[in-house]
Amino acid sequence: RKINLALGERSYPIYLEDGGLNRLGYYLQQLPLEKKALLITDSNVYPLYGEKVAAVMRQAGFQVAVARVPAGEQAKTLEQAARLYDLAFDAGLDRSCPVVALGGGVVGDLAGFVAATYMRGVPFIQVPTTLLAQVDSSVGGKVAVNHPRGKNIIGAFYQPRLVLIDVATLQTLPARQLKAGLAEVIKYGVIWDGEFFQWLENNGVRLLAQDRDALQYVIETCCRIKAAVVEQDETEQGRRAILNYGHTVGHAVEALTGYDAFLHGEAVAIGMVIAARMAVQQGLLGYREYHRIKQLIALAELPAELPADLAHRDILQSIYHDKKVKGDQLVFILPQQIGRVGIYRDIDEKSVMRALKE
Ligand code: NAD
Ligand code: ZN
Repeated sequence: RKINLALGERSYPIYLEDGGLNRLGYYLQQLPLEKKALLITDSNVYPLYGEKVAAVMRQAGFQVAVARVPAGEQAKTLEQAARLYDLAFDAGLDRSCPVVALGGGVVGDLAGFVAATYMRGVPFIQVPTTLLAQVDSSVGGKVAVNHPRGKNIIGAFYQPRLVLIDVATLQTLPARQLKAGLAEVIKYGVIWDGEFFQWLENNGVRLLAQDRDALQYVIETCCRIKAAVVEQDETEQGRRAILNYGHTVGHAVEALTGYDAFLHGEAVAIGMVIAARMAVQQGLLGYREYHRIKQLIALAELPAELPADLAHRDILQSIYHDKKVKGDQLVFILPQQIGRVGIYRDIDEKSVMRALKE
């Protein structure tokens, strides 16, 4: 299956293939690239797929340097980026040599940042291996590293030349990571597609059982939605912000718990429930719809409630610190029905506190 993300001369294909890793060499050969590449992966993904992917690329005529970063969010730093620039330089990469990201969102964001900045930008290829990366982070061109003052503070918009999604890689993904990815999947249902949400209600069990056809369908649907949103608003001047549904409170929960208690998707699940509750309190969303959102999150075995030891004041403070707050305005993405959300820039503190409390 092929989805095209249309952005003029920055357009690119998203290929979705069971077993697609084997076809990476073929797809690379279709692009105007020089035959030296830097393959970036992490310490968990390397032993599973690293040598296989390097071999496929070598068969296609590439000289491949393989770089491994430590698994986990701690690798998304300028220090790691600096090390990768050295490796790119040592491998003799010039401006038409590709950087290939093989891994989850951490590897994708970091490798994309390196690709965007090394020699003012070299071709970037995404081969995502977590559900989160396959439905969200590998598509759309946001690349970044973290800064001690905040997540994703140093970054760019830099679109890949190609995204290759192999659903088979999810077989090795830990169940908890799969569920965290489902949070972003549910997000797409709420913000964009009520019928897809209903499909998830009926097929959630198949997804948790790693049914490949179900996963393939979900990934394709999510990539289509993400592509449509990004095509309308590549650099988040407006509508792209709807992808942040659940992320305002979600980011606060992640930050306050030190990025280790909750996976990103788990924190987003909590954030989506709270935003939906806020929408009910504002008279935007019916209670029944709120309940469906909460139920689907429970079906995906994701958390729906704030940890009891988080002070609501601290959450509010953390939201103010988030870079997405413009001035003193609190911006929330609130559902109006399942399948449609609005961007609200006039939410007052009291409303936030009320939604946190209930
Ligand atoms: P991750 O990259 O840390 O991957 C999760 C874990 O799964 C890691 O331990 C990894 O080594 C392991 N793993 C990856 N693929 C595997 C496989 N096939 N089998 C077994 N283990 C595997 O985390 P993530 O959830 O993929 O991504 C989170 C990151 O994505 C965050 O840094 C977040 O900021 C970023 N993100 C970016 C965007 C964007 O638009 N750029 C969107 C959402 C999230
Ligand atoms: Zn997210």
